[in-house]
Amino acid sequence: MSPANAKLSLGSVHNEHAAIAPTKYGFGTLAIHAGAEPDAATGAVIPPLSLSTTFKQKAVGDFVYEYSRSDNPNRANLEAAIAALENGKHGFAFSSGSATTATVLNTLSPGSHVISVNDVYGGTHRYLNKVAGSIGIETTFVDLANVDNLRDYVRDNTRLVWVETPTNPTLRLVDIAALVEIAHAAGLFVVVDNTFLSPYFQSPLDLGADIVVHSATKYINGHSDVVMGVAATKNDALASKIRFLQNAIGAVPSPFDCYQAQRGIKTLHLRMRQHAINAQRVAEFLEQSPFVESVIYPGLPSHPQHELARRQMRGFGGMVSFRIKGNTHTADRFLQRTRLFTLAESLGGVESLAELPARMTHAGLAPEERNELGITENLIRLSVGVEEAEDLIADLEQALESAVAENDTDFNGNAVVSVN
Ligand SMILES: *Cc1c(COP(=O)(O)O)cnc(C)c1O
Repeated sequence: MSPANAKLSLGSVHNEHAAIAPTKYGFGTLAIHAGAEPDAATGAVIPPLSLSTTFKQKAVGDFVYEYSRSDNPNRANLEAAIAALENGKHGFAFSSGSATTATVLNTLSPGSHVISVNDVYGGTHRYLNKVAGSIGIETTFVDLANVDNLRDYVRDNTRLVWVETPTNPTLRLVDIAALVEIAHAAGLFVVVDNTFLSPYFQSPLDLGADIVVHSATKYINGHSDVVMGVAATKNDALASKIRFLQNAIGAVPSPFDCYQAQRGIKTLHLRMRQHAINAQRVAEFLEQSPFVESVIYPGLPSHPQHELARRQMRGFGGMVSFRIKGNTHTADRFLQRTRLFTLAESLGGVESLAELPARMTHAGLAPEERNELGITENLIRLSVGVEEAEDLIADLEQALESAVAENDTDFNGNAVVSVN
């Protein structure tokens, strides 16, 4: 089979030619098969890792792949999988979630105005606030818990709305379909960062969003060993702009990272199911614990947007935030005493992690901004992994009890918290 035929029959190289139609199979089948046809040349069931940076041309301009930054077999396979899982037409991979954000924002012309949800990921906030100005983009950060707020901020030059749902770390939701209706009526594109739920639990493109982006570093790769970002869209014009910029800016992932991420994707459905089962159990345990002040999880009826979560999401995800009874010292002790939950930034891997947003992931925000968003000094964020739920709960229980028990003897003998 000639390379040109191989490209078409693989069906995986560009999703436009995908042998596996996105609507024909269920999620788990697509996760395993989209962009994963056996190698046409050797029959290898797993497409090989192709590290070559350049490709032999049969005659000038007659090639399947030209140069690895522009396109390469492993990235093309991964991009086909992403497009299928997000029910998009075009998928893209980048060297990080942040590179994805930067590339997507570069599709705007100088003089454009962006509206972003106010509790957007810190790195996205930093890019919009400190970098995008140099390409002539101005941003307004808006609370979009009520999407009607959007109308008050649209200007003549507003082009795009950037949202995340659920947000980090306070797990607020944005009603994507309602937002899209208002945004599209005003002629704006909508970008949704779907990192926290993965395509298994939420499909922004089906709700009308124009572009979906991810830090694939999190659930999509799922094993805390690749930094990567991905995007998908159904819109051909947007896709050709993004494809041009992917090559022109060149913030692309290595073939090895694409290979790893695609391997991760094959178990995305299995992992997400277990993340959500474990997170629900952890959230319910925390909610009845005498050592916990409050719990934030979209799967709890106590979440202020629980109804929206049920409507918009197919599951509630693996992220749980809670306020420990006490202060930052109590939280510190807790985070040093867990044995299964590792004190670390990031999320979405098979292993459980815990962190203190006020002094770690969100330390860059001004104290007033943190207060406004509810990122208090006793707020702990958990990335609940896929270990056995009973073991995770027992770990949390022992660390909570021991951390909170010391509250009374802290701070020069001043009683700070009473547990009853
Ligand atoms: C981690 C993260 C990003 C940034 O991704 P990197 O891969 O770290 O560059 C963007 N959005 C969200 C919601 C994230 O959690």
